[in-house]
Amino acid sequence: MPTEHGCMRDLRPSPTRDTTTMTLLDRLLSNDLAQISAASRVLRALRDARELRALVNHLDEIRAHALSARQPSDERAAALDFALHKLEHVRSSSRCLCALYLTDDLFDPREESRLGHVRVLDTVRAGEVLDHYACQCTQCGTRYQVEENEYYRTWWAWRVAPARSLIRPTQTRSPAVHV
Ligand SMILES: [Zn+2]
Repeated sequence: MPTEHGCMRDLRPSPTRDTTTMTLLDRLLSNDLAQISAASRVLRALRDARELRALVNHLDEIRAHALSARQPSDERAAALDFALHKLEHVRSSSRCLCALYLTDDLFDPREESRLGHVRVLDTVRAGEVLDHYACQCTQCGTRYQVEENEYYRTWWAWRVAPARSLIRPTQTRSPAVHV
């Protein structure tokens, strides 16, 4: 009985491989743009440090392959570009992965919260309208203000929150009355 692959280095792209057993690396090195695109989307949310480092070991190979397979007019190219950007960040920076929020406009804070990557501390409204989400990275504690915008599609602008953003000195509150 054949043993299952436990090591990514054993796996090489093969057009005949059953796609359900393909690793992320297989998919990224595939000649099938749909597979590359699917892997890019998975990589976007991937936080497993060991898995990320294993992929980073192949980053140059992945990038060279991506550049040959990539079609700039294809909307999937953006997902692939971000995947490469993320792997480059893991390779060259010790900063928390949440720093990538500042470089991309597709991170929905509610989805990031669902995945456990951030906590939504507050949903700040200006009257009826959502002004921003106040979020905090669960990994490093960095706080962000996230604006939600609509323009063809929904997109989000992440900014590091000013240090005292949660304190509003201009807002006066009546002191609590204790009986
Ligand atoms: Zn962080």
